Amino acid sequence: THFGFETVPESMKEGRVAGVFSSVASSYDTMNDLMSLGIHRLWKDHFVRSLNPGSPRIPSSSSTTTPEPEPWHILDIAGGTGDIALRLLDHATLINHDTRARVTVADINPAMLSAGRARFATSPYTSASNPRLTFVEANAEKLHSIPDASVDLYTVAFGIRNFTDKARALREAHRVLKPGGVFACLEFSKVSNPLLDAAYKRWSFAAIPLIGQLVAGDRHSYQYLVESIERFPSQPEFRDMIAEAGFLIPGEGWEDLTGGIAAIHKGVKP
Ligand code: SAM
Repeated sequence: THFGFETVPESMKEGRVAGVFSSVASSYDTMNDLMSLGIHRLWKDHFVRSLNPGSPRIPSSSSTTTPEPEPWHILDIAGGTGDIALRLLDHATLINHDTRARVTVADINPAMLSAGRARFATSPYTSASNPRLTFVEANAEKLHSIPDASVDLYTVAFGIRNFTDKARALREAHRVLKPGGVFACLEFSKVSNPLLDAAYKRWSFAAIPLIGQLVAGDRHSYQYLVESIERFPSQPEFRDMIAEAGFLIPGEGWEDLTGGIAAIHKGVKP
């Protein structure tokens, strides 16, 4: 790039991404707080609130035989240590009093998944009698273990920019969602205000690799993360990719957070 950081050839990317996340998994949650000054928590809260998981749904036509509609099945792709999954389940349970909604966290990286499993080892959401949270190892581009039309809500937060073939991952999202199911993505995006953009670039290209070096002992991985944000498509470009995969786009298609430092994109499977 014009910032002189290494560009990773597409063919190397999958292994490289796995390596980056293995080396950051242990310090991952602390690093998120430091890098974003804690703002990622607010974005994640807002993302989940906007999806309102566990909200009552109109019973399907089979409801004459089944008294209650089927519970939500949520697939949190690139779910890492379960930050989004925890919020989804808390929202369903505490806000919508839904104790049946369940989340599958899928991630390509075993180290992230074990950090997630350890985090939820004593959680009521993983109790053997009512397991509402499960962790599976899977690549977003080939979700072999997830059947067609089996998911009500597909979430991906700060994951898709690392996927080698984003169009293919979007087609997989479309395949696994039920008709009427929602694709929702929270990702770093493009800042429109030039002053904010200049300040943000200085922070991300100078401070984040330095924090990575000092806290995680790994400057290189954090340089790579910053560079991947730079390469990710703009809001309208990404919206068009979602439409291209077969989704209907509600409204403008995205919502900017903190001036576009992050954005939420949504699509509905027809
Ligand atoms: N969603 C979590 C959050 O917001 O805290 C974790 C985000 S973390 C920055 C990105 C995650 O994407 C990592 O856990 C990484 O292993 C995962 N990942 C990268 N490429 C993937 C792929 N092709 N399929 C599934 N997960 C992937």
